[in-house]
Amino acid sequence: MAEKLHVNPIACAGHGLCAELLPELISLDEWGYPILAGQPVPPALARQARRAVTDCPALALRLAPAPGRAGRDGAAPRRHVQGTQKEYRGSADRS
Ligand code: SF4
Repeated sequence: MAEKLHVNPIACAGHGLCAELLPELISLDEWGYPILAGQPVPPALARQARRAVTDCPALALRLAPAPGRAGRDGAAPRRHVQGTQKEYRGSADRS
């Protein structure tokens, strides 16, 4: 499953270690805070990404499933459509 990097800007202390460990996906702004590439982590960089997450001194970096990808069973993720259930019940009441 493809994953994406996320940074908690409140927790991040701007150590810059993550950019040293994963320069392909993380750069630093002028104050030393990370700028993430925003793309899913390519499989070839998954190991380095996990290391950047575990080595972050502030625990501000995390990996989460990239949105829009198939679930573990290969099926497309379910989306909640507001009002769908209500409309269905409404049509059932008429019969
Ligand atoms: S290593 Fe952690 S604390 Fe340091 S810049 Fe990266 S996310 Fe922020």
